[in-house]
Amino acid sequence: MPNTYQSELIKKHARLPARIMRMMTPHGEVTTPAFMPVGTRAMLNYLTPADLLQSESEIILGGNTYHMLCTPGMEIIQSIGGMHKFMGWNKAMLTDSGGFQVLSLSKKGSICIIDEEGAHFKHPITGKILHLNSQTSIDAQKIIGADIIMAFDQCTPETGGREAALAALDRTHRWLVTSCEAHAKNSNSAYGFKQALFGIIQGGSFRDLREQSTEFILQQPLDGIAIGGEVIGFDMQKTAEIIDWIRPMLPENKIRYTMGVGLNPQDLLDVVAKGIDIFDCVAPTRNARHGTLYCGEWVDDNDWLAFKGEKRILIKKSIYARDENPIMHNCDCYTCRNFSRAYLHYLFKEGLIAYFHLSSIHNIHVMQTTCRKMREKMGG
Ligand SMILES: [Zn+2]
Repeated sequence: MPNTYQSELIKKHARLPARIMRMMTPHGEVTTPAFMPVGTRAMLNYLTPADLLQSESEIILGGNTYHMLCTPGMEIIQSIGGMHKFMGWNKAMLTDSGGFQVLSLSKKGSICIIDEEGAHFKHPITGKILHLNSQTSIDAQKIIGADIIMAFDQCTPETGGREAALAALDRTHRWLVTSCEAHAKNSNSAYGFKQALFGIIQGGSFRDLREQSTEFILQQPLDGIAIGGEVIGFDMQKTAEIIDWIRPMLPENKIRYTMGVGLNPQDLLDVVAKGIDIFDCVAPTRNARHGTLYCGEWVDDNDWLAFKGEKRILIKKSIYARDENPIMHNCDCYTCRNFSRAYLHYLFKEGLIAYFHLSSIHNIHVMQTTCRKMREKMGG
């Protein structure tokens, strides 16, 4: 496989901003739209890499920087030869900078403080103070060795209003410059693989700030563009609006990534229709574990697709106790091909481990099938 990162436009939808992109990474090609299952702690809950390959996943979010710094620590990851080897995933991988996690932690002030120097947090086990900033985040991501790494940002909280959004944006921009400088000195991972660096547009729910952030991001030597902040993926109407504001400014040949989008299949259809290429979300596996299983059908909707029908079923309901049907008739995942709702209902009620595995396989498969249906719709 060539040791390079490239992205190119393959096809455009006739009417919508939706498109098919191809990313070349040192660990294989990715054709978008692509959903990235999330393995924050160097594993996907209840799923093996073999399950992910079965679902046609071509890229995952593996080994988040914050979590990997805490445990197992960079020395161990480096001694094994990086995250691909460590977690047994040989295809493309994106990691993230730790920015989102430190925002969550900073809300509990005593264990993490964010200032101009970055984030200072207490190791959850040893109590040692660790520093995460644009330089240490890039250094850690080189050891993690993902194909796509993220500039360290201050994720915009949704509760702080314009002032907080502006502060997060300014800081993110200053940190971005340092991230780009660190990456420019050496754009390879600790194992010699070329890494792509993506920057993150902040600006909360304010149009002028989003535009300002986009303008700044586009001036930096970045390989791809992410759209971040707590609002993204959480409020889908606002997410769509934000994408509409900034899309006219974005270059065609760079990958566009909405961070944290994918609560359900319809969310993927909605952001891709707006011109987004990749997304990640913990919701499909978390929903599965809590008994919420995607159930619907992809129907034509004005040159695009919609996910219609029940959309989700709650497998704990007693109406499924004798239901011989698969979760979803039009799903060809391993679970739907082999097991009934009655069996999954029984496993769930008893809290048996097999439930978590089989339900996660299904929900991830539905997300990836949604991506495949979108590519087919665009003639890909
Ligand atoms: Zn299924």
